[in-house]
Amino acid sequence: MRRLSVLGSTGSVGSQTLDVIRSKRDEFELVGLVARKASEKLLMQAIEFKPLYVVSYEEPSKDWLTSLPKETTYVKGHEGLMQVIEASDTLMNAISGVDGIIPTYHILTKNKRLLASNKESIICLGDLVKNKRGMILPVDSEHNALFQLLSFVSKEDIKKVYLTASGGPFRNRSIKDLKAVTVEEALNHPRWKMGAKITVDSATLMNKGMEMIEAINLFDLSVDSIEVVIHPQSVVHGIVELKDGSFLFHVSQTDMKVPILHALFYPERRDYPFERKNLLELSPISFEQVDREKFKALYLCRWVAEMGGAYIPALVGADEAAVEMFLKGKIGFLDIANLVEDVLSMLNLPDPENIEQLLYIISWAYEKVKEVSERYG
Ligand code: MG
Repeated sequence: MRRLSVLGSTGSVGSQTLDVIRSKRDEFELVGLVARKASEKLLMQAIEFKPLYVVSYEEPSKDWLTSLPKETTYVKGHEGLMQVIEASDTLMNAISGVDGIIPTYHILTKNKRLLASNKESIICLGDLVKNKRGMILPVDSEHNALFQLLSFVSKEDIKKVYLTASGGPFRNRSIKDLKAVTVEEALNHPRWKMGAKITVDSATLMNKGMEMIEAINLFDLSVDSIEVVIHPQSVVHGIVELKDGSFLFHVSQTDMKVPILHALFYPERRDYPFERKNLLELSPISFEQVDREKFKALYLCRWVAEMGGAYIPALVGADEAAVEMFLKGKIGFLDIANLVEDVLSMLNLPDPENIEQLLYIISWAYEKVKEVSERYG
């Protein structure tokens, strides 16, 4: 039986992981649930799933603690995280943003199996990720699709790997209109329901740019071998073009529970226990080119992928701050990529050699964005 924990259990991917587990309850021992806040939602999850441990970074109330089931032990913060990692053999890291980096670091260092949904950690911890490839199952829909496709082909037969992007809510807007995008509009993604940070990153295509770096680290690809293509229906999640003229597609309905189900049971397969769409409902399928001018963030990420080293954590820290500023209404939509670019151009730090230096570069870029943004708006 798998000894599984879910980090970020109250978020979008975390909750959907529990939806899958609920339907296959006897196949897992649930070791830990980890979340930032000691919320009602976390409490309800603990009551239903009775994990061995429940962990929050925020102090819970007395009532909250006394409501926990008797099977469940509460441990706070980092100490709790470490106990959960120790006691598990498989961990879903669905914590969003920079907060997911330390958990991924410890999961991989302790040789546990990682179901990877936090992309910031996969892109920042490049060398560690490369050394532990066999321990990582990608959960991001695109990377899960590529993971499946690439298992059928030899590396020397690959001509190109395509990441598909829905194009977000602003695919059909002119660059002039993008200036005036509101927070509400940016949070209204046409295909996927996700947290605020990743939804904004999807609208700027920063998310797709980071996914490009993620794919490089996960599958040992060169920057030149990856291309992004707009695919508005979001049913083709990955494409591999082979040298003999074939294109292999991974197609599935737009539902994160599909890659979650795959990652949870790999290398076995299980029945999808939810309402499924038939093939005709997944058509039509179309592709478009990305507008370079409109989606600057994507090209910024390509440049960062080529530079490597300190530029990667700096990108992550700068974007985290810029999206926060946008969500607070302090900067405009197009300023996100401009600010990140400005701060990256000031970067003059050596490549990180350990996790402490990596986190320092992230916080340097984060603070720098706040400082530089005073001149915006
Ligand atoms: Mg994705």
